[in-house]
Amino acid sequence: MSLAEDPKSVKVNKTSGTGMEIEWKDGHRGSYTFPYLREACPCALCNGERVKDGRQPGEPPPPVAGQLPMFKPAVRPTEVKPVGKYAINFVWNDGHQHGIYTWSYLRQICPCPECKMKRESTDGVADDMAEHDSRKPN
Ligand SMILES: [Zn+2]
Ligand SMILES: [Zn+2]
Repeated sequence: MSLAEDPKSVKVNKTSGTGMEIEWKDGHRGSYTFPYLREACPCALCNGERVKDGRQPGEPPPPVAGQLPMFKPAVRPTEVKPVGKYAINFVWNDGHQHGIYTWSYLRQICPCPECKMKRESTDGVADDMAEHDSRKPN
């Protein structure tokens, strides 16, 4: 397991409902809101729904045209369970509980601007490196 996929510390603010904070062993930090994590649920069902809509993990479903947004209580986990050393599982207050969030998946979906930008540049790795080189000071 690489350092970038291994958390140094994980804090789940279950009571305050603000989300989860991960500090990775490579020094990177990510902070995930609960609605983001819920929409990024990696289970086959949620993943299938996202693929069908063409949504990225963490992206909420588009509002249905002509339908008023339904009131929904704020998403938060009622239970948080470690899964071995490699993942974490949430039991959500909407009853859903099938998502096993591996550390490598969580690192992949890190919502910070830096990681988001990396994900959105769809060019290959070679291009990324070339770009990186050109930004180096003389
Ligand atoms: Zn799910
Ligand atoms: Zn990040």
